[in-house]
Amino acid sequence: MNDKIALVEAGGTKFIVGVGDASRHIHARTRIDTTRPEETVPAAIDWLRAQGGDYAAVGIASFGPLDLDRTSPTWGHITRTTKPHWSDADIAGPFARAFACPVAIDTDVNGAALAEWKWGAGQGTTSTLYLTVGTGVGGGAVVGGRLVHGVSHPEMGHIRMPRHPADTGFAGHCPFHGDCLEGLAAGPSIVARWGASLSDLPADHIGHDIIAWYLAQAVQTFQAILEPARIVLGGGVMQTAGLLDRVRAIAWEHGGGYYAGDCRTTLVNPGLGHDAGLLGALALALGAADPR
Ligand code: ZN
Repeated sequence: MNDKIALVEAGGTKFIVGVGDASRHIHARTRIDTTRPEETVPAAIDWLRAQGGDYAAVGIASFGPLDLDRTSPTWGHITRTTKPHWSDADIAGPFARAFACPVAIDTDVNGAALAEWKWGAGQGTTSTLYLTVGTGVGGGAVVGGRLVHGVSHPEMGHIRMPRHPADTGFAGHCPFHGDCLEGLAAGPSIVARWGASLSDLPADHIGHDIIAWYLAQAVQTFQAILEPARIVLGGGVMQTAGLLDRVRAIAWEHGGGYYAGDCRTTLVNPGLGHDAGLLGALALALGAADPR
């Protein structure tokens, strides 16, 4: 039996397409610019066919939001996105028709959450929550080996936030909610307020405190809802020097020792490196090929 797995990391600016296997070996990969669905998706399929085409499963970790209701006629489609041309685009269907094997699709964030739980910073725990803070904010959680879903994937980046007392005069940049978590703490909101990314602001700039404060409030919300054994904080903004320690300190101070998880140790950096996106797709595909 062929054990090759087709991997698709479908992003808003590029698709990374690869071939891997259950031992986490990535045999080949390519990059395809994200233009229009009718161009980008067939280009990904053509490349996968050129690698042999006989796959045990396809794993797709995609930007969203996605329809993940298996009974829906639009399962595996992107739903409402601000990205031009991609609202209602069918992502999973063309791969399912091209390759006679199971197709797993979920958000890129959920893929990363599952991969971090299986192989990364959440390994060995029964519950791991992954939050990415970059151009957007998104979160996924694995509990008892399974990703948490309701009628669709969680939208943890869009929780409402209390306002930091010094963060005045900024409406927030989320096109749907204004000053939700993403609207206040994602990279574009930082540039909109202070004219630079967090890592480019001086170490004593108040932006460091404000962003850490918002992330610490978010962490407490997720602790209150789920009490995850581990909270993995990833994404470009989290690479700012000192930010993780600031979030830990504020979350600990504000949490008052109430929660079972001690955020001085449960809050961690991601454990997976530059292949995290493809490993997310692989984690999703292995779940589809070997459902538990
Ligand atoms: Zn929002």
